[in-house]
Amino acid sequence: MKYITIAIDGPGAAGKSTVAKEVARRLNYTYIDTGAMYRCLALYVLENQIDYQDETKLVQAVDCLDIQLSNNGKVFLNNKDVTQNIRSSAVTNLVSRVSSPRCVREKFVRLQQDLAKNKQGVVMDGRDIGTVVLPHADLKIFQVASSSVRAKRRYEENLTKGIHTSLDVLEKEIKERDYLDTNKPFGALKKAQDAIELDTSYLTIEEVVQIILNYAKDLIK
Ligand code: C5P
Repeated sequence: MKYITIAIDGPGAAGKSTVAKEVARRLNYTYIDTGAMYRCLALYVLENQIDYQDETKLVQAVDCLDIQLSNNGKVFLNNKDVTQNIRSSAVTNLVSRVSSPRCVREKFVRLQQDLAKNKQGVVMDGRDIGTVVLPHADLKIFQVASSSVRAKRRYEENLTKGIHTSLDVLEKEIKERDYLDTNKPFGALKKAQDAIELDTSYLTIEEVVQIILNYAKDLIK
């Protein structure tokens, strides 16, 4: 059996994590959520009131993080389950900023590359996986959806958690994060030249999973 590496990049709230986790589960591959790693840094910065504009302090903070990712999507930071905490809006609104400096990216990229090493099949999702972290990935997907569809999905997800935020506010936050993520000096959100673009605006999660599995199976057989 041949094992492949799958990179799934795209803007926030496009459903990458849900899809990547499911693709990994069905292929029995390791799933690595790189956004969750940057979110851990943002949470740590918030909880410890670190001045994130001070790059020295930020990079020291990275060295204090022990991040464990489980294959079912659970995230542990310094032995504490932070799966829910890293999805808070405070973290979401800060994460693009703390993940921008070059010194932070270099450390995380190395960590992510090490995590992907010697695995029997990997699905990794993020912004710069196909371009920077795993430029030789066998299959690269660039998963997109319109900002209004992404806001609606986030709105519905929030409702299930009892959180009520207006659609307009959510779409504005999504657009702001798109701007910051696309214009980062290092590791910006960008479609790799050899990536397949998948617009999921009118597709269900199952349809997206099936499309990616079909591409993967063509490469595995
Ligand atoms: O994918 P998710 O929305 O959890 O990512 C959170 C944030 O982490 C992104 O908005 C982006 O700023 C940052 N990120 C990144 N590079 C990655 C993954 C995420 O800069 N590979």
